[in-house]
Amino acid sequence: MIASGTISEIRCLLEEGTLSQRSIAARLGVSRGTVSAVALGKRPDHEARRRLRGEDLIPPRGVPRRCPECGRRVQMPCLACYLQSARQRGR
Ligand SMILES: [Zn+2]
Repeated sequence: MIASGTISEIRCLLEEGTLSQRSIAARLGVSRGTVSAVALGKRPDHEARRRLRGEDLIPPRGVPRRCPECGRRVQMPCLACYLQSARQRGR
């Protein structure tokens, strides 16, 4: 599966308009078909959309562990870090 970041990178490069789809594909290590699909809007960024809607929130569960990002002892995934990143995304 192609990472959401790659899809948005493809989109950015397409919008810049300086590189051909072929060059973008080569640069990001994806197929030309993928770049073309993004260009045609056939490759919706599901992951980003889910994040915007907050649907990527996985309820924390299990044994508390040390969060690698904030260092708190929390059930993973770390809700504090999730909320912080949600705020940074402007919600
Ligand atoms: Zn955390």
